[in-house]
Amino acid sequence: MTKISGASAPRPPELATADVMAAEDAHTSGLYTKRPIVLVRGEGATVYDSEGRAYIDCVGGQGSANLGHGNETVASAIAEQARTLASCTELFYNDRRAELYDVLARILPPSLDRIFLCNSGTEAVEGALKFARVATKRSGVVATMRGFHGKTMGALSATWGPEYRDLFGPLVPGFSHVPFNKPDALDLAITHDTAAFIVELVQGEGGVRAATTEFVGEAARLCDERGALLIVDEVQTGFGRTGTMFALEQYGVTPDILCLAKSIAGGLPMGAIAFSRKVGELPKRSHSTTFGGNPLVCAAAVAAIGEIVRRDLSRNARDRGQQLRDGLRAIRSDRIREVRGLGLLVGVELKENATSSLRALQDGGVLALGAGPTVVRYLPPLVITAEETDRVLAASAKAFA
Ligand SMILES: *Cc1c(COP(=O)(O)O)cnc(C)c1O
Repeated sequence: MTKISGASAPRPPELATADVMAAEDAHTSGLYTKRPIVLVRGEGATVYDSEGRAYIDCVGGQGSANLGHGNETVASAIAEQARTLASCTELFYNDRRAELYDVLARILPPSLDRIFLCNSGTEAVEGALKFARVATKRSGVVATMRGFHGKTMGALSATWGPEYRDLFGPLVPGFSHVPFNKPDALDLAITHDTAAFIVELVQGEGGVRAATTEFVGEAARLCDERGALLIVDEVQTGFGRTGTMFALEQYGVTPDILCLAKSIAGGLPMGAIAFSRKVGELPKRSHSTTFGGNPLVCAAAVAAIGEIVRRDLSRNARDRGQQLRDGLRAIRSDRIREVRGLGLLVGVELKENATSSLRALQDGGVLALGAGPTVVRYLPPLVITAEETDRVLAASAKAFA
């Protein structure tokens, strides 16, 4: 066998576009519907495919790329920490983890001063549900119709979409779903057997629908009155996306448990559960994760959150989000039913299936996401400029014409 040293190891030959697709197709799980382009590089709000074509990236890693692509500060932090110490479980203290707790404490509501670090959004929700059951010694969980909280068994039980749930039953017992934004429905649903009410402040996957302050306020009031915990899922809305660091700042509520993930670590996988003293003591070893809080991802998160704060990307999300919604509303098209959203979480509900518009946008140099069958969702990096936003609008006007 030839000995290959790191520095002189031969790089595999660059694959042609068709070879990349064939190689993926040969081994893919088949769970994803892939679009036929190969993305190879990104910079700011732009990504490039293997043929050198540029796209404005309004998929934004499904919300994990708030900081944009190729951020130098995050890249150096990762490289530096990878050389220093990448693995260190929570059996030990670690300087980077301590730093991240401190950074999070500065941006979170003061009462959410305890943090559990994990690796994804669904894991943050999974842990939050377990914490709520332990804290309240109750099992009931109330979630919302059209809500999305992830796809592991516990989180999936809170997720509403029958297309995600129906194949996998029986799910976790004790879950029910109330209509979103119908405060009157909460009184019967949140009872003295309810461990938690879980809600997104803007439903992302469910079609870009913002909760009303009345709905969230009533939920908070009933949880408080009946001893249930309020879990807010800001996995998609967190870290500047809606125009404030967290959407809850615009709702005037503080949950007992807050779920975070997606853009927390500059594109690396990380989730976090921030929770209040109301949750009480968690029994030792009742929950844990091998990778949670590892120094590599903590270093990335410290750098990423630092950049979001330093560059005031929440403000840019607010301004560019307004520009995007105003521009989309000005498009005269019989195919558009409604334009809605908060900050740079923007949805265009069509009167038809969104697939052909998504394709037309891509042909016009803009990558966008669906959110349910009829909604085109824009989740660009928060670094998107006014000029790039205008280009997204020009492509949209053509796509919806
Ligand atoms: C994406 C998302 C999740 C799940 O996060 P994963 O990292 O994909 O597991 C949970 N809740 C909300 C609101 C999300 O948008």
